[in-house]
Amino acid sequence: MLLIRRYSRLPYNAALSLTKVFYMATQVHDCDICIVGNGAVGKAAALGLAQSGLRVVLLCHSALATPVSDHWDVRVFALNHVAQRLLASLKVWDALNMQRVAQVTEMRVKGGVATGDGQLDFDAYGARSQELAWIIEDRNLNQALDSAIKFSQNLEVVTGIATDLDSGAESAGLTLDNGSVIRASLIVGADGAQSWVRGQCDIGMDYRSYHQKGVVTNFECTKPHHGIARQWFVEEQGIIALLPLPGNRVSLVWSAPDALADELMREPLSALVARLETYCLDDLGHLTPVLPEDIKAFPLRLIRPHSMVADRVALIGDAAHAVHPLAGHGMNLGFGDVASLIELIKTREDHRDCGDRRLLERYRRSRKEDVLLMQVTTDCLARVFGSDLAPVRLVRNLGLNLLDRLPVIKNKLISHAMGSK
Ligand SMILES: Cc1cc2nc3c(=O)[nH]c(=O)nc-3n(C[C@H](O)[C@H](O)[C@H](O)COP(=O)(O)OP(=O)(O)OC[C@H]3O[C@@H](n4cnc5c(N)ncnc54)[C@H](O)[C@@H]3O)c2cc1C
Repeated sequence: MLLIRRYSRLPYNAALSLTKVFYMATQVHDCDICIVGNGAVGKAAALGLAQSGLRVVLLCHSALATPVSDHWDVRVFALNHVAQRLLASLKVWDALNMQRVAQVTEMRVKGGVATGDGQLDFDAYGARSQELAWIIEDRNLNQALDSAIKFSQNLEVVTGIATDLDSGAESAGLTLDNGSVIRASLIVGADGAQSWVRGQCDIGMDYRSYHQKGVVTNFECTKPHHGIARQWFVEEQGIIALLPLPGNRVSLVWSAPDALADELMREPLSALVARLETYCLDDLGHLTPVLPEDIKAFPLRLIRPHSMVADRVALIGDAAHAVHPLAGHGMNLGFGDVASLIELIKTREDHRDCGDRRLLERYRRSRKEDVLLMQVTTDCLARVFGSDLAPVRLVRNLGLNLLDRLPVIKNKLISHAMGSK
């Protein structure tokens, strides 16, 4: 009204529109938890926390709209049982298009392809499970998450760019570029490896580039893959993984040194096929690109923030830890963060709010072991298998063969990777 009076020389309707614009620009969103970032990890956290009865705001750069397409997405994830249990509890698992999900029933790892002398096999039978993992397209996963979000109560999706983060004893707040404000008891940074939230909290981190890129694309093969995920450590050429997709399709993740990755991206896919067939022709037959020239590359790095929490702030997913994809576990770790955060918030004492310092400390402790184990394991494997030194090669190939003959230890390892209880 004040504004209308101020613009009293304008026609009434124009003054009313101006008031609306002003109101929208300075909108205040009050909630219990604000999640910043709409990757799969952020969306899962928003859903789970809203389903626990908390008022949640999901802050995204742009509206949620995962593109619809029948093409096979070159971005796929191997999800383990931790991820599956979380997605099932959020009612997202049943919303996936299961015709496009492949089960991994066996894993074959070969080290020292040049010398051909290191091999390690895991199978679901040995791990007393029907499957070791599921291969899911990014688009399939995000579409299922988007539709669950659309029908979720207590969950508001806000689009905008946060320009300021402020946290105090009673609450935390975000100011957006349009002047709107989000007030919450807890802010969750789910904004990926380059996390803006982490930067605002002055959380230091260790950063190391692997000087590699993950090159991804899909192929049809002439022989059935039998649900086997295949991986080759090929010394100076990096690590090649061919993951099963439904039908006779496989998805490539080639963690290649930067120069080689750039070459793979430049040359036609037929040249990439020729390179790959030297490794897999016996098992998979001839490869044909599923979609000509559909190929992407992602820089690979280790990001180890010094803490996963700050005052009224928690980090999840790649914002909290980015690891080498050789074990296919970054997203699984992120879903582990989500499961843990939801559980701790749901079971907190009545006198604690969602951003309570002790609660956040519990969250930090609950994730410490899993995250550290994955960071150290993937980092060591990436270094050891990237080494050209003959003694290192010998020891690691002997190690693979030795581990292959120790079923008890091997099955313990695979159960841990699967996230079995
Ligand atoms: C080649 C490759 C293969 C992989 N394979 C696997 C696998 O098989 N299994 C597995 O578990 N993991 C795998 N990973 C790891 C996995 O991709 C990541 O761990 C996972 O995508 C992280 O999800 P996230 O939601 O935390 O981050 P992201 O997917 O990076 O999402 C972050 C989101 O936040 C948004 N955002 C950023 N800044 C802001 C801001 N300031 N405000 C609002 N929004 C913001 C971004 O737009 C984005 O949507 C692989 C990774 C690579 C590179």
